[in-house]
Amino acid sequence: MSTESPAVLIVGSVALDSLETPYGAANDTLGGSAVYGSLACSMLAPVRLVGVVGSDYPSEGIELLTSKGVDLEGLEVIEGGETFRWSGRYDGDLGAAETLETHLNVFADFSPKLPGDYANTPYVFLANIQPGLQAQVLEQVASPLLSMCDTMNLWLDTVPDEVEAMIGKVDIALMNDAEAQQLTQESHLIAAAEKTLKLGAKRSIVKKGEHGAFICTDDGCRFIPPYPTTRIIDTTGAGDTFAGGVIGHLASTGDLSDDNLMRAAAVGTVLASFCVEELGVKGLAAATREDLEERYEALEKSSRIPSL
Ligand code: AMP
Repeated sequence: MSTESPAVLIVGSVALDSLETPYGAANDTLGGSAVYGSLACSMLAPVRLVGVVGSDYPSEGIELLTSKGVDLEGLEVIEGGETFRWSGRYDGDLGAAETLETHLNVFADFSPKLPGDYANTPYVFLANIQPGLQAQVLEQVASPLLSMCDTMNLWLDTVPDEVEAMIGKVDIALMNDAEAQQLTQESHLIAAAEKTLKLGAKRSIVKKGEHGAFICTDDGCRFIPPYPTTRIIDTTGAGDTFAGGVIGHLASTGDLSDDNLMRAAAVGTVLASFCVEELGVKGLAAATREDLEERYEALEKSSRIPSL
């Protein structure tokens, strides 16, 4: 982590996940959009996490985040409360997870109040959680240099207007392919990304899982390929990890140009490759800055198109 970089505020779920994959299963393992995002981002910039857990949250989770330098002053612990739980199952190709159960638990009554100096954080990542909570956090940040939001099908099914309102307020709207199609009713992904821009976001990123991502602005769309790992064990949190890498790179460089957003997306795709190689947060937690740089270089070389 570079302590000189400006900080990134991340709000999202801090969860206990139960996972079923063809390669293994886990019960009540560390997860959550804010946790994956924070672990990824903390490799590049200081992170301030905003979220809530119950007193059942294991000390292992706190220790892991603390060991990566994540500031947990904004993580509320509700005495006697139960931590957010999500369970999901994956089929053979580990594409999209089928959600089996979601228990918001302490997130149902969460009303985030930013502690200390958090309101002055320059970079804000509103990771997947109720859009109403994302809005409450964004409203409390004085004047972010860059804000980015993610979402998921549950919120598009239940509170689509709130998702649209949030997209209208951020610099970067992030979604996976199915979510972009659901939001815009466009099956063509570039058309879907363009419609997302019409909702007000300055840039839109459409994640395509193992097929990379589109990065779209008013000047058009560019494609970032995935890092071609052949070991795919569990794709949980890959999208959040990608996002943490994107905002971490932008914060650590301070360069918000379109070219640097491409570099940020390449960092995100490399970090996502570490995430999918092990069950839960294990692969990402073990990755080092050197690992990241090595894979970035390999991705850069493998994706260069020779000139005609
Ligand atoms: P991803 O695989 O990137 O879509 O994110 C998976 C993570 O999202 C898991 O660790 C879950 O705990 C978390 N998650 C699943 N459903 C929700 C939800 N409705 N709100 C917030 N986080 C969720």
